[in-house]
Amino acid sequence: MRLIIMGPPGAGKGTQGERLAEAFGIPRLSTGDMIRAALKAGTELGEQVREYYEAGKLVPDEVVLGLIAEAFDEPRSENGFLLDGFPRTVPQADGLGDLLRERDLTLDAVLSLEVPDEELVERISGRRVCSNCESVTHLSALGDSGECPECGGKLIQRSDDQAETVRTRLAVYRDETEPLLAYYAKAVGLTSVVGTGAVDDIQASLVAALEGVGAK
Ligand code: ADP
Ligand code: ZN
Repeated sequence: MRLIIMGPPGAGKGTQGERLAEAFGIPRLSTGDMIRAALKAGTELGEQVREYYEAGKLVPDEVVLGLIAEAFDEPRSENGFLLDGFPRTVPQADGLGDLLRERDLTLDAVLSLEVPDEELVERISGRRVCSNCESVTHLSALGDSGECPECGGKLIQRSDDQAETVRTRLAVYRDETEPLLAYYAKAVGLTSVVGTGAVDDIQASLVAALEGVGAK
């Protein structure tokens, strides 16, 4: 199974993508996670992209295409993958097309998670990440302790989740990434799912939608 999950920042690509990937036994390839890992490890690539990331801007296409090409050739990607947060620009989508063609691979489906803007801002500004186990929670779901519900670790805000940066990310999404919905509607077909409501219900809609397009 080879999938893309698309949607604006805060749409739930990570949460839903992780569950789908697990259900299908494929890795979730998230360029955002790869970039955060590089930043945390302080690698050369991390330093090269820090400024873009912290400002909520896109890192250069060649950088993410390089990360994805590497991930495609890892053994874990042998039976497929779910792409989360990539592609985000038309040149990235063209580059992905080349990478797939070179490997004789095709996409089974492109999923789109739809969430209204007001809700995106609310979700992202309340989002907290555990500094210990990296699980993601929302302020509204926390007890008085303010600790990670999974492990009791300290919760922090992602450096690009500050209000000002969130506005930039949403604008970048509209300008650079949203046009890809039409691109994939034409090239592969778009499977759109409402991304509001309970996490389990959204998950069920995604699975049903995939069955509906024969991608299961
Ligand atoms: P979200 O979808 O919530 O914005 P991500 O973790 O996918 O979160 O991305 C966070 C940041 O990482 C982006 O704002 C951008 O700086 C960088 N990034 C991630 N994926 C890409 C990509 N495909 N192209 C360019 N930049 C990316
Ligand atoms: Zn934790």
